[in-house]
Amino acid sequence: MHALSIRNLSKQYSNGTVALQGIDLDVAEGDFFALLGPNGAGKTTAIGILTSLVNKTAGSISVFGHDMDRELEAAKACIGVVPQETNFNQFEKVFDIVVNQAGYYGIPRRQAVPRAETYLRQLDLWEKRDQPSRNLSGGMKRRLMIARALVHEPRLLILDEPTAGVDIEIRRSMWRFLEDINARGTTIILTTHYLEEAENLCRNIAIIDHGKIIEKASTRRLLHKL
Ligand code: ADP
Ligand code: ADP
Repeated sequence: MHALSIRNLSKQYSNGTVALQGIDLDVAEGDFFALLGPNGAGKTTAIGILTSLVNKTAGSISVFGHDMDRELEAAKACIGVVPQETNFNQFEKVFDIVVNQAGYYGIPRRQAVPRAETYLRQLDLWEKRDQPSRNLSGGMKRRLMIARALVHEPRLLILDEPTAGVDIEIRRSMWRFLEDINARGTTIILTTHYLEEAENLCRNIAIIDHGKIIEKASTRRLLHKL
């Protein structure tokens, strides 16, 4: 079964901009997959559609076999998303941000608390657990977004430009963390405009430009071609 299966996905915004033009994409369970492309290629639009923030114009998406039109709740339960923009309540404490997210998925607090501790420790945020989110640096906020996206233990984690603007040391530690959860079975898809990020981390790469997938290959094969 595919973790993600996209057929003929198109998006035209109401101002007429065509952001996606008939995308087809399959991502295997367990994969570490990059959607690589320049600014304006359509990456954030694709993620917006996957999180129901943006309405698609046409096409279909299924997540672990759950069609997003017919079985949205089941599909959503399988996905964790880390958007580009942080959107925390700036006065809420780091620990509460992660635990409270579990409530949206109907996960009891007694299950959420140990998970929050695990992810905050792994992401080097445990010392900050009682701080309001506004006290965190940009790189810490990025890592908090990841902890929050994992608290319902999704089978598929999708990250939009996860390390953009993050300094090299933090970027490396985020890479190690993502490799680790992928090794434990979580399928990962990230968007990036850094070739280096895609080639370092990902097993398979799709290149998107002007709303179309122009190339799809294993990282190894793609690097031979470039
Ligand atoms: P939809 O077609 O999904 O209904 P809209 O066209 O209504 O979406 O746009 C959603 C929001 O995005 C609006 O608030 C709009 O102002 C904003 N927006 C418009 N153009 C851009 C752009 N190029 N990049 C990012 N956001 C934009
Ligand atoms: P990327 O994430 O690859 O940079 P986007 O999905 O943000 O690409 O943008 C794809 C295209 O859609 C761009 O031309 C962008 O200006 C346009 N766009 C993005 N959001 C909106 C919006 N809400 N309304 C209108 N156009 C948009």
